[in-house]
Amino acid sequence: MIQHVAAAVCTLYSVAYSGYFLTHLARHLMCGFRAAPPPEAKEEEDSSELPAVLGDAGELPSVPGDDSELPAALGDKGEHPALWEYSGEAPAAWDKDSGHLPAWDEGGGCPLVQDEDGQAPMVWDEDTGHLPLWDEDRGHPVPWEEEAELLPAWEEDRNIVSVEEPAEKYLEVEQIGQGAFGTVSKGFDRATGGEVAIKKMSLRGQNGERAVNELLLLKDKKNPNIVNSLDSFLVDGDLWLVMEYMDGGTLQDVVRQTRMAEGEMAAVSRECLQGLDFLHANRVIHRDLKSSNILLGMAGSVKLADFGLCAQLSSEQDRRSSMVGTAHWMAPEVVTSSPYGPKVDIWSFGIVTIEMVEGEPPYFKETRAMARALIRHNGTPQLQEPRRLSALLRDFLECSLEPDEEQRWSAQELLQHPFLSSAKPLSSLTPLITAAKQLREQRRR
Ligand code: ATP
Repeated sequence: MIQHVAAAVCTLYSVAYSGYFLTHLARHLMCGFRAAPPPEAKEEEDSSELPAVLGDAGELPSVPGDDSELPAALGDKGEHPALWEYSGEAPAAWDKDSGHLPAWDEGGGCPLVQDEDGQAPMVWDEDTGHLPLWDEDRGHPVPWEEEAELLPAWEEDRNIVSVEEPAEKYLEVEQIGQGAFGTVSKGFDRATGGEVAIKKMSLRGQNGERAVNELLLLKDKKNPNIVNSLDSFLVDGDLWLVMEYMDGGTLQDVVRQTRMAEGEMAAVSRECLQGLDFLHANRVIHRDLKSSNILLGMAGSVKLADFGLCAQLSSEQDRRSSMVGTAHWMAPEVVTSSPYGPKVDIWSFGIVTIEMVEGEPPYFKETRAMARALIRHNGTPQLQEPRRLSALLRDFLECSLEPDEEQRWSAQELLQHPFLSSAKPLSSLTPLITAAKQLREQRRR
């Protein structure tokens, strides 16, 4: 009997213990699962809070769930506020993986910013959410206090801008251009009746740097193949640049609407190279050469324009490394973030020559990121129909689109290339310009 009772107690105890053990095991497992949610859930949580990495052109992405396109400084607890105030606190941290704002450089008084390629992003201002002015010498953006100080300095420098009222000197008639960084209007000089182009650019943020760059370059560097600046004004925080009016539109209009003969291409090439040779002799890199930045006069004059991104080299700094320009026209050394010099313009000029042949740059249907990857990978781009071109033009293209910067010809060397001896007179461009204008008008109607 005692044996039976002992066996029953043992059985009951082991059943109870197993139950207890199983319950604890289950609870333990449950806790374990709760403590470690699946990784996707965590990512979702993070991405709903934080902006993604910088965009193609270095621009900041919009914040999910926020109507404003502006980025914002992270708050004390790392949260992402809706709006970044220009005058507000500096952002705390941003890295490419988590989309955080950049680390703050105490010494430099500005953020340490890198984009996906490890480059400083190019643009940021309080209106567009773009990055601040980039100080190439110090390798980081200009501290905001310094940036803010730039404007009054310009305003006070009466030697640089005219003090008169622009409306007293010029009559503005119509808007003729809209660039990413301002508008361009046609006008007349009230005293002489001559036509002028008035480019209005904001002086705030990165736009300001571009505007000042262009103003200084055009004031200082006069050449028949560089668009001539006539006057400049400060109007309500905007810079107005008065330039000679180029009545033939841009080379882009011509390459898109017409087919150019090789003699006409040679004429345009020679004029562009003369402009580039002048810039490079003055240690200036244009950095954004493309057909839409080459202006034409009805009589056939050809001039380089849009100097917002140009860089002045010096004995202390004879190379640049910021990824600057327009993707499809960028040289291999620019897309690979290597130090570069004036020959980046020669590559872009080679791409302009392809535009004259094919109507558009290589990889035009591709995104900017893909175009940069293809430039890096392919080197000299393939022509669509090389056999349609003369051997001289093919060689001219190869000399300009040589991936090795050392081997690539300079503007001065290309001016001696035999292809240029086939140049037609500049007046031969007039019918092309007229045809491009008419076709554009017809398409607009
Ligand atoms: P982008 O977006 O190319 O950087 P932007 O804001 O710097 O443009 P520009 O390229 O200088 O501006 O000018 C925009 C357009 O205005 C040109 O494509 C051209 O059609 C017109 N334009 C500019 N300057 C002149 C000029 N001097 N004479 C006639 N038209 C001009």
